Amino acid sequence: MAYDPENVFAKILRGEIPCDKVYEDEHALAFNDIAPQTPTHVLVVPKGAYVSSDDFAEKASDAEIAGFFRAVGQVARDLGLVEPGYRFLSNHGAHAHQEVMHFHIHIFAGTDLGRMVKPREKQG
Ligand code: AMP
Repeated sequence: MAYDPENVFAKILRGEIPCDKVYEDEHALAFNDIAPQTPTHVLVVPKGAYVSSDDFAEKASDAEIAGFFRAVGQVARDLGLVEPGYRFLSNHGAHAHQEVMHFHIHIFAGTDLGRMVKPREKQG
């Protein structure tokens, strides 16, 4: 899939629409999710144009990958999430219900998150 520069996170990165920023460095921008699913729900996006985790893993430079994941860790530390714990995940593609086609990691925290994904028999 080709990268669409009109996706909402590209617009946020260009400053065309606002975000509730929590962290920024040369490799990444982090901001609060507009529809939080947990008390803390932060999105971390790389500054480069990558559609998804697959695209990022294949095409990003080592410096971009290292910088991005260091930023994820920095955000979690800055928000005081290391000790209580947190979960991060990234949705890729249709089965994962990826909605925004710019690679991003969700950081969920602030409550007991349960274990992993819902068991198959409980999925809606
Ligand atoms: P995903 O399904 O992994 O692509 O998740 C996309 C996420 O982006 C969802 O959790 C949305 O609530 C979130 N989102 C969409 N638009 C915005 C926005 N303008 N600012 C912050 N978060 C957003």
